[in-house]
Amino acid sequence: MYNLKPYNRIRQWYYRGSIKSCNYSCSYCPFSKHKKCSVQELQKDQKSLVYFVSALLEKTCIDMQKCAVQIVPYGEALIHKYYWRELAYLSKSIFIEAIGAQTNLSFNIDEMLNVYIDNGGAIEKLRLWCSFHPQMVTTDVFLSQCKKLSEYGIKYCTGAVGEPSNLSHIQYLRVKLPDNIYLFINKFDGLKRNYTLDEIKAFTDIDEYFELELRHHKADVSRCTDSLFIEANGTVKHCNICTSKIAGSDKICTRKECSCYLSYCNQSLPELLFFNPYPSFRIPHYPKAVFFDIDGTIINKDNSQDTVTNETQKWLKRLSRHSKLYFATSLPYNYAIKKAGKAKELFSGGVFAHGGICKIYADIGQCSKVVHEKIFPLGYEHIKLGFLKENASKYGYSVYIYGKDIYKITLLFSIKDNVYIKSVAYKLGLLDNSNFNIIIESGCLQIISAFAGKKEGIVYICDKMGYKADEIAVFGNSVSDIPMLSEYPFSVAVNADETTKQIATYTIN
Ligand code: SF4
Repeated sequence: MYNLKPYNRIRQWYYRGSIKSCNYSCSYCPFSKHKKCSVQELQKDQKSLVYFVSALLEKTCIDMQKCAVQIVPYGEALIHKYYWRELAYLSKSIFIEAIGAQTNLSFNIDEMLNVYIDNGGAIEKLRLWCSFHPQMVTTDVFLSQCKKLSEYGIKYCTGAVGEPSNLSHIQYLRVKLPDNIYLFINKFDGLKRNYTLDEIKAFTDIDEYFELELRHHKADVSRCTDSLFIEANGTVKHCNICTSKIAGSDKICTRKECSCYLSYCNQSLPELLFFNPYPSFRIPHYPKAVFFDIDGTIINKDNSQDTVTNETQKWLKRLSRHSKLYFATSLPYNYAIKKAGKAKELFSGGVFAHGGICKIYADIGQCSKVVHEKIFPLGYEHIKLGFLKENASKYGYSVYIYGKDIYKITLLFSIKDNVYIKSVAYKLGLLDNSNFNIIIESGCLQIISAFAGKKEGIVYICDKMGYKADEIAVFGNSVSDIPMLSEYPFSVAVNADETTKQIATYTIN
């Protein structure tokens, strides 16, 4: 038997029992040849599972590390009640946030959920990866099983092997499934030829992530060390295809590519951001609203065009099918809209001028129809405009004023040195003025109201639109984004400096 104690900071646990059998007999699957397990085989499998569960429960109590467990059987496991009992025991741990299994969804849902619930299983932690096999089950029968899972409030994904001859069945399934249920397509390894362009398009129309199945994912062992794959025979490795049998030993995985979902999902791919924190379940979770900084975030600093690239535009477009998009930028409104280019049509409003002004449009892309607007004016009584202008040539800056009520003043310096700019701000008496919020970045000194900020603007929009803090995501890249990044649990640092990266929940480079 194996010992889990040496393995620390594991976020995702995978488990594979000893059974290699399935109640289905799909032509593309090796386990279809072994249809029924003997009583002894089942007893052995159960004993191994009980050992794994007790070892893991003990381990999590010691480590107190939040984690998830995904069962990835060879064949079908959820037709056996003991899997449901053990999943229930795992779900009772306060450290295990989610538990799940891959299944063909052929089990009796009512009966098995009774076993799960009777043993104290938490429905909200259950995740099912449900594979559709058109040779074995009609689309309507599979759909009725899915409907039942939805009625129980269970989180699940569906999926199928991308066999071109099954395309019409899978397309029908996609049409009939609720929009919020993800249907993945696995590359069909037995195809023995490349997919045609039409087939790629058809499968991508069903699964927007299908391209990941066709891509070569360079193996990087440093990115999968927080996943462990345990097999009933005592093998402990980082993923199902890892070539090293003992994770953490000197022998590390020598694979060149992480060639299947269970391996590449451990590689923290930016494309799988919305599958976090546990991509092993393959269930995306999209925020209701996503807030994006512009400069350095949706427009890369190194992009000489200074516009949103076609690739980013496509990504934003896909995301806009699931989530409302808002800007959260220090750029004044008109500059932001101009700079966003065509991407502006995907947004529903935003926080502009570092929170000096916030707008919510009537609908996506309708920037001319603003239904809610909030301005945080600087207040004429506090701004010494004449004084700022008088000192412009002495300190080498130009003054830009935004809004009738003045919600932002920018001093654009000819010397792009933040230390120098800070010294000027001090001399002008701006730093110790409690009426202002001063931001120094990229050769600019920005003055906004002390009550304004990206974070404050996001709070305003969330309040108006009814979004809770855990229903939104925020993307930023610089120190000035830290207040908003640290406020929300789903925060993403894009090509960011080290300080900003440390604050955000996720990073993209
Ligand atoms: S194949 Fe598996 S173990 Fe090897 S690098 Fe990829 S995820 Fe890690």
